[in-house]
Amino acid sequence: MTHRSLADIDLSGKNTLIRVDLNVPVDGSRVTDDTRIRRILPTVEAVIAGGGKPVLLAHFGRPKGQRVADMSLSVVVDALAAASGRTVRFAEDCIGEAVAAAVAALGQGEILLLENTRYHAGEEKNDPEFAGTLAANGDVFVSDAFSAAHRAHASTVGLADHLPTVAGLGMDAELTALGKALSAPERPVVAVVGGAKVSTKLDLIGNLLEKVDAVVIGGGMANTFLAAQGHAVGTSLCEHDMLDTARDIMTRAKAANCDIILPTDVVVAETFAANAPNRTVPATACPDDMMILDAGPKSVAAIIRCFEASKTLVWNGPLGAFEIEPFDGATNAAAAAAAGLTASGALLSVAGGGDTVAALNASGSGDKFSYVSTAGGAFLEWLEGKALPGVAVLEA
Ligand code: AMP
Repeated sequence: MTHRSLADIDLSGKNTLIRVDLNVPVDGSRVTDDTRIRRILPTVEAVIAGGGKPVLLAHFGRPKGQRVADMSLSVVVDALAAASGRTVRFAEDCIGEAVAAAVAALGQGEILLLENTRYHAGEEKNDPEFAGTLAANGDVFVSDAFSAAHRAHASTVGLADHLPTVAGLGMDAELTALGKALSAPERPVVAVVGGAKVSTKLDLIGNLLEKVDAVVIGGGMANTFLAAQGHAVGTSLCEHDMLDTARDIMTRAKAANCDIILPTDVVVAETFAANAPNRTVPATACPDDMMILDAGPKSVAAIIRCFEASKTLVWNGPLGAFEIEPFDGATNAAAAAAAGLTASGALLSVAGGGDTVAALNASGSGDKFSYVSTAGGAFLEWLEGKALPGVAVLEA
């Protein structure tokens, strides 16, 4: 699927409404991590270079249609000014006369940030009238928040009914990376699906096994699959009510010619705690009083062999309880192997969703993947094969 991008539009003299993700972590009035702020800068700079005036639209937290003081986007003004090196003006609403006046007064090369779109109930309802009032202050709409693209809101979808609409550079990069990973990938494709529970990832696994050549199952959810095969899992995290579902997934994978790769050896401990005494046992032999907390070295070797035989990797979820050492071992070793294969040009690697970014960052290998999506829910819905409304409006 192709999408319209910044190169398809003339921005000269245009008031450019850019939907960005500024949902940054804060401590009081201080931004504690400006990653999301830095990610919007290429698009803002491209708009300015093209002669447009950047007017930023974003949500912050969940004020549910009310003005909630500690959910004001004014908290990011200083961090945005520092990161961009530009003058940042702030309007205390995202619609109306105050915004019109601020847009008119905005100097070339300055950035205007509008107040939290979710202060208005019309935002999350995608109310056409509200979208019209948002659009009144812009000439074009640049959609640059992939992380909000799974929501049909006024600032992600509704604006496209009123203004010429294109993807910003961040959205463009995300759609291009995701397209290469699943829509038109180089084969073979391997997916790693880890994390706590099968029940939260059923749609995701169901979609992937139709599209990829192998699925590595790790983390707590692998225990459910081992139990479904009749193996004892001791005191492990295991969804005993999902055994039929796990068996059904394995049957469907076989029909779709997709290999399911489960751990053959596992690291077990008596407690879920850092540095808990542990040992490695066959995946068929978890002691009754112990729990599986990671995949073992033989499993990791098999996963790495699968990576080496693949051209494309999609990764969501850790292979073990990565927050507590040494149960981050399998995740770290597999991530390092994927990073190495990526660096040598043998593998295109795309990862994302929830804890995956934290796990890969902790492993020290995340920045060596081809692309790591920080989009969370939108990335997971994309892995589930769902159409994202904020992407549909960009399709050419
Ligand atoms: P998710 O949010 O579904 O991606 O799951 C991530 C969580 O799964 C992390 O907090 C991990 O600690 C947890 N996890 C992974 N493997 C295991 C395991 N074998 N036992 C218990 N928790 C696990």
